[in-house]
Order: sequence, then C-alpha cells, then structure tokens
Amino acid sequence: MKQMRNFLEEAKALHDSGIVLDGHADTPQRFVDEDWNWVGSPLGMGQLSAETANEGHLHGGFLIAWPEPDAWTGKFAERTRTLIAGIHQQAAKQPEAITICITAEEVRNAKHNGQYAALIGIEGGHAIENSLDNLREFHSNGARYMTLTWANANDWCGSSGFGGDGGLTAFGRNVVREMNRLGMLVDVSHVSDAAFHDVLETSWAPIIASHSSSRHICQAARNLTDNMARRLAAKGGIVMVNFFAGFLSDAWREAWNAMKPERNAALDKAREQFRAQGKPFLFFDELAIEREFARRIPPVPLSVLVDHFDHLLRVIGPKHVGIGSDFDGISLSVEGMETAADLPKLTAALLERGWSADDLRGLLGENLLRVLKQAEDFAAA
Ligand SMILES: [Zn+2]
Repeated sequence: MKQMRNFLEEAKALHDSGIVLDGHADTPQRFVDEDWNWVGSPLGMGQLSAETANEGHLHGGFLIAWPEPDAWTGKFAERTRTLIAGIHQQAAKQPEAITICITAEEVRNAKHNGQYAALIGIEGGHAIENSLDNLREFHSNGARYMTLTWANANDWCGSSGFGGDGGLTAFGRNVVREMNRLGMLVDVSHVSDAAFHDVLETSWAPIIASHSSSRHICQAARNLTDNMARRLAAKGGIVMVNFFAGFLSDAWREAWNAMKPERNAALDKAREQFRAQGKPFLFFDELAIEREFARRIPPVPLSVLVDHFDHLLRVIGPKHVGIGSDFDGISLSVEGMETAADLPKLTAALLERGWSADDLRGLLGENLLRVLKQAEDFAAA
C-alpha cells in the first residue's frame, strides 16, 4: 500500500532545509508601547514572537516602523525613530534570539546561527516628512524598505485608502530614485493604482508589494490585479500575500465593512474611557476591540488564503510570490492561522495542491533575498 504523505511534517522539513521570511509584521509597536519583549513575554493579542516563530519554523522577516498618522501628527519622523530604536533594543537585549540584518547575506548568517533575522521596514512615506535627509537617516539606521504610503496618502504619493488616489509627484519620483541609490526596496502595498504604475516606471530596481493579496479573488483596493502583478513580476519584483481575512474574502470584507459604524462607536467609547482613566489607548487596545467584532463574522477557511498563493503562483510564477502576513497589524486571519506558529499549515496546503519543494523555496524566503540582493547590487554599482 502506498504510504500517505504527511504534508505538515514535509512542510516543517522544507522550512528548515531552506529559509522562511515574512515580508511584514507590525510587532515593534509592542516593543515601545507595551514594554513587551521578543523573548519570553506573554503573546496576549499578538501573533508573532520568538516562541511562535520557532514553532512555525519562521527564520526572519521585516519588522515595521509605522507612525500611525492620527496619533502622531506632527511627529511622524520622531515616532519612526522611536520604533526603529525599539527594534535595535530588542536585538541588543536578546542577541542570541534576534539580530538586525541589513543585507541578504546577514539574513542567511542569522538563520545559520539560529537567530531571528530582523529586517527593518518603514510603513507610510509620511514618515520622512518630505525630507530625503530623514529617508537617508532611516536607511543608515537599518531600514531596508519603505512602503510609500499607508492607508493615508501623503504629499507626494497617492493611496488606495484615503487622502488622494493620484500618482507620484516629481518629489515622489526623487524619493523612489533615492531609495534605489541607497539600496532600499520600494514597497507599493497600500499605494493607489496610479502611483503603482508611476513607481513601476520610475524605479530602477525590482519593487515589492510587501503585504498585498490578489484582487482577482478579493476586490479590496489594497490588493493587486493580475495585470499589476504581471507588470511587477516582469520587472523582477515580488507580491507578498497579506493574511488579513478582509483582504482575502469578499464576503468577509463586506460583513466587516457593514459593521463599521458599530465598530467605530465601540472604539470611540473605549478611547473615551481610557482618556477618563488617564491611560493611553494603544494600538493593541484597538486591535482587541476589532478582534471581538471580527470574530462575529463566519471565519474564512484556510483554503482561501491558499487560493491567493495558488493563483499568484500560476499567474506570475514561483519566483515572484512571497509571504506578507501583516501579523500584529491585523484583527483576524483565516481559520487555523492564529499566529506565526501556524505557518507550516500554509506550506503543507501548497504541497498538497501539487507545488513542489523547489517551487515553494522562493515563496518561503529566497525570492525576498533575491530582490534584497538586487537592491544592494544596484546601490553598489
Ligand atoms: Zn499595512
């Protein structure tokens, strides 16, 4: 009789025989706001930690410095500095467990040494406050990508969220070229469709979508159409799939949007209560309320997340897909994908759908290392 394949065990072995990297996690807010440590702190509302990364056979990834635009108005660069410093402090506190990497080679070395390879990313071009000096400073402090917008547009780049859906201005094009010159990856997750096409024409190095899913499957404006994904891949870039239920399933997203008035009222009430008690209302306090609402919606099965990967693998090929979980930035993922510990389930499902180990090595981490190296090489040339 033919032996049944154990896809989950195969997945874990595949992870460890290569390298597994996540394109986007918002964990650094915990480092600075909650006095929370990468090693040993209770996971609580979180989705990523040293422990869950170990359990999920995840070897590293981008940790994000995101200056939330309402709370940090007028202090975007300062907040970004604080978050970057928080990442460095974690590596200084627990050097055996986590190390800051600025090159693809350092990422490989970290994995070899059993350390989490922490790359630093900036989310939202408002972080630089229209200053290339700030951009250069963030790069010199380790940042290796910048997402050009968050849900908010800025003075030089349109967003798929609010505040303007225009393209790149002349200064925006300078930002992109300065990032090329420095060896920072240009990230188009969150940007408007017009800006996406402008960036593609402007950037000299491959670009990434660090945490965006497929618009063919889910209509969220944050996702990439097949045409966008093909154009990005044709220039050597990668699309890293976001795990948020609202970017994966239209039915879930519609239910989520329908709850918005009620959810906002609950958030306002909590914000008021925190203020009355003199306590800061932190991102994770907000996330806790959002998760309560998210859990009222029928869950999205894991197979839907797998569908996004499967679709992109077919449309743009295994060299142009990656993982962009958005852990610690999303209220809820799909069923069974609660934390980073669950990552091998995704790999197992892709193996079960017939993708080979070689097909999946790129998606798991090699593709991200390739584009990092290309950005470095461009800067060095
Ligand atoms: Zn984001």
